[in-house]
Amino acid sequence: MTTQSGNCNGDMHPIAHIYQLLPCRRGWKDHRTPLEQLQMKQLDAQSEALIAPIDQAAMLEDAQSWSAINTGTANLDGLAEMAGTLADAFTALPGDVKLVEPAPVTAVGADGREFDKQHGQHLTLSVRPNAERRLLFTGHMDTVFPKESSFQNQTWLEDGVLNGPGLADMKGGIAVFLHALKAVEQSEFAHRIGYDVLINSDEETGSLASAPLIETMAQGKYAALTYEPSALPDGTLAHARGGSGNYSLIITGKSAHAGRNPQDGRNAIVAAASLVLGLKQLQTDECPVNPAKIEGGAANNVVPDHAVLRFNIRPKSPDAAQQFEAALAALVGDVKQAHEVDIHQHGGISRPPKPVDRKAQRLFDLVRDCGASLGQTIGWQSTGGVCDGNNIASCGVPVVDTMGVRGGAIHSSDEYMIVDSLSERAALSALVIHRLASGEEL
Ligand SMILES: [Zn+2]
Repeated sequence: MTTQSGNCNGDMHPIAHIYQLLPCRRGWKDHRTPLEQLQMKQLDAQSEALIAPIDQAAMLEDAQSWSAINTGTANLDGLAEMAGTLADAFTALPGDVKLVEPAPVTAVGADGREFDKQHGQHLTLSVRPNAERRLLFTGHMDTVFPKESSFQNQTWLEDGVLNGPGLADMKGGIAVFLHALKAVEQSEFAHRIGYDVLINSDEETGSLASAPLIETMAQGKYAALTYEPSALPDGTLAHARGGSGNYSLIITGKSAHAGRNPQDGRNAIVAAASLVLGLKQLQTDECPVNPAKIEGGAANNVVPDHAVLRFNIRPKSPDAAQQFEAALAALVGDVKQAHEVDIHQHGGISRPPKPVDRKAQRLFDLVRDCGASLGQTIGWQSTGGVCDGNNIASCGVPVVDTMGVRGGAIHSSDEYMIVDSLSERAALSALVIHRLASGEEL
C-alpha cells in the first residue's frame, strides 16, 4: 500500500501474525490432514513429472539476490540493475526478453505546475506468440523502499521465515513464476500454449508508466496470473478488488489586496474548501472519497489566487466509478461558477474496480482444484487493496492476482516470506498452466 495510490494487497499483517501462521506453515509441510494426504495421492504421474524440476534452493537464491538490489520505484539505478539481472534470468525461457521504455507520466507540484516523472524500464518476454491459447504472467520489480531506506538487509526470523525488502512483494513472486515456467518448458505440453511475461517498474506508485503496456499485453489473452503475495499468510487469494483514483485539482483565482480591494480577488483557498465539502457530499458506501491535502495560499494580506487540492477515491464497482466521475465534473463546474475561478483536473482512476465475473471465478476454481491436488487448501476473500490485476481485469481478461508467495507485513520493515511457499506456489502455478494448456475451459 503506498501513501498516494494504495497498491499491492493493502492487507497489512503485523509481525504478530508470524506466530499465528507458523502452525499453518508446518501444517502444509508435516501435518497434512488425512483428506489432504489422500488428495496429495491424487496427483497423477504427469503432474508429478511436471513439478519435479522445481528447485526450491534455486528459487530462494534468486529471491534473495533480487531482494539485495534496492528497487524503490524512484531508484532508477537500482531498477536498471534489477532489469538487467532479470533479463539474464529470463533467458532461461524461450523467446526474446525486451526492456521497454516507460510511458511518459506527469505529476503536479505544490505550485500547480505539471512536471515529468521519471521511471525505470519494464521487462517483457513473448513465448510462442502464434499459439492459439495465450496467457499473461505479470509481476513488478519495484518496491516501496527508497534507496535511502534503512531496510536493505535480510534477516532469518526463524527457520523458514525470511525478513527482507521485497521478498514477499514481490521478488519471491517473480521467482515463483520464473521457475513454474521453467518447469512447464521442460514438459511435453509446453508447445500447446503461448504466453507473455511483463515485469513492470512502477506498480508501487500506481503503474502509470506501464498501464498502456499492461493493456496492450492483456489483449487476446485467455487468462492472466499476477504474482502479488497471497492476501493472507495461509495462502488465501485476493478475490474481488475495489478500484482507486488519485486526483489533483489545480485552482486558479485572482489575487487582490485583502484590505483595499478584496472584492476584486477570487479566493482559490475558499474555492478549494468548497470543493472539499462538496467531495465529502459525493461519498457513498460504494465510493469512499478522501480529500487528503490542500496546498497553496498567500500572505495574510493577499487574496490567494492559487491552491492545489489532492484526493483519493476507492470505487467498489465500475458503476460507482462512473457515477463519481460524472458528479465530480458537475461539482467542479458549480464551484468554478460560484467562485469565478479556473479549475484544472489532473489524474483520475488508475486502478479500475475488479469485480469477479464468471470466467474469472472459473479461474479461481481452477487454482483451488490444482491446490487441492497438491494438498494445499486455497480460499479467497475480497480486499480493498489494488494492484495490476485491476488493470488486467478491466481488459476483460480473467485474472488471479495473488499467485505469489505466502508472507506478510508488506510495505513495512517487518515484511517476511515463508520460504517453503516458493516451491509450493511454483507447483501450483505449473499445474494451473498445465490445465489451461490441456484445453480447460474458463
Ligand atoms: Zn506488490
